[in-house]
Amino acid sequence: MPELPEVEITARLLDGALRGAQITSALAPGINALKTFDPPLSALEGRTIAGVRRRGKNLIVDIGAAQDALALLIHLMSAGRLQLYGKRAGPRDRTSRLLVRVLAGDGEEAELRLREFGSKQAAWVKLLRVEELERDEAIAKLGPEAWPDPPELGEVLDVARPLHTLLRDQRTIAGIGRSWADEILWAAKLSPFKRGNDLDDGERDRLREAIVQTLDGAIAHYEDAVGLPIPDKLPMPLRVHRHEGEPCPRCGTTLEAVHFEDYVIAYCPSCQTDGRTLKDRRLSKLLK
Ligand SMILES: [Zn+2]
Repeated sequence: MPELPEVEITARLLDGALRGAQITSALAPGINALKTFDPPLSALEGRTIAGVRRRGKNLIVDIGAAQDALALLIHLMSAGRLQLYGKRAGPRDRTSRLLVRVLAGDGEEAELRLREFGSKQAAWVKLLRVEELERDEAIAKLGPEAWPDPPELGEVLDVARPLHTLLRDQRTIAGIGRSWADEILWAAKLSPFKRGNDLDDGERDRLREAIVQTLDGAIAHYEDAVGLPIPDKLPMPLRVHRHEGEPCPRCGTTLEAVHFEDYVIAYCPSCQTDGRTLKDRRLSKLLK
């Protein structure tokens, strides 16, 4: 489930390896993944990679310079990975969605590979002219970056929506998803269901601090633990998310969870909800 820290470490490692590399060919075995047709993928041949960066949960590979620059805009969705290999993918590798073959600075061949695990094909790629990039809806609708310098939260969160929903809304603040929202709210000792406009000044400061510290900590962890080609499964340093039923790392209370159709919110009743256990919506649905 790649979110800001996972996409950030991917961008950093790929940028270090691919800046200045020359593209020799590009193809999209996952026909559903490529969402654009003009310019064609063949426009990448012979071009130089200028860098790889992150915006929200999107990866951007900048190609070429000046007016005729192009950009690959990539969203990994829930099960995609962007990885760099020294060898070409086998023709029967069913995880391949996009393959960009390059000659790296040292003249070595390498393959930048967008792969996707599981049965869903949700990860996508767009090849855009540089002037189209900022106008693309995936970028144009993004809110301010959650890291390294999130906005003052007073205005951003001044709505009657639950904090967990607000933090995951990319138009409110960009980069946070289900995993890191749990970790951030636990760090800030705030209920996932508290409304954004119910926060007092102290709580807003605590939340902003928790966003910075939590994401900083995750990225620092990946800097130590992750290298190329970038593993299929990143060692996510989660303490609360997916840890329901285990003791809270801060106070020892059993972590609880609320199950939704396609995700789970985990929290500590002592640290976050004044000891209250929130209604498990999966159970209440079944009992109806
Ligand atoms: Zn606790």
